[in-house]
Amino acid sequence: MSHLVLVIATLLLMELAVTLFHKHVMHGTGWRWHASHHEARPGSGWERNDWFGVVFSCATVLLFALGGFHQPIWWIALGITLYGVLYGLLHDVVTHRRFGMKWQPKNAYLRRLVTAHRLHHAIREREGGVSFGFLYAPPVETVRRQLRARRSRT
Ligand SMILES: [Zn+2]
Ligand SMILES: [Zn+2]
Repeated sequence: MSHLVLVIATLLLMELAVTLFHKHVMHGTGWRWHASHHEARPGSGWERNDWFGVVFSCATVLLFALGGFHQPIWWIALGITLYGVLYGLLHDVVTHRRFGMKWQPKNAYLRRLVTAHRLHHAIREREGGVSFGFLYAPPVETVRRQLRARRSRT
């Protein structure tokens, strides 16, 4: 498999894995850290939630080290790093406007991602969240419908 295919496949698999991780771990046993990110003003300072990033970064450094013995692992680690960079840019900088970011994206994909994630934050509790992805979001209308369905249940 070419290295580029390996990097792109890792990137796509990461989105799938991280979406499931967000839904079942961060909104599950990891809520102790993630709750800080669902409080009133996410992104306004350092949050306990940032520990997830620290843990993932350390794990990726280990993977790079292992990649010294087996080259494909090095390329997988690069795919994970690329995912981390995109996550940081799209989720933290663009959506939550960390580090003084004021830019409002005009691009349809980015607008959908930002709006869907803001709707994810409309729910402060651990249970019943919507739109757990960070690079992919369902159409905004779908997310709004899920939110309405959730509200009519409670
Ligand atoms: Zn969340
Ligand atoms: Zn967020």
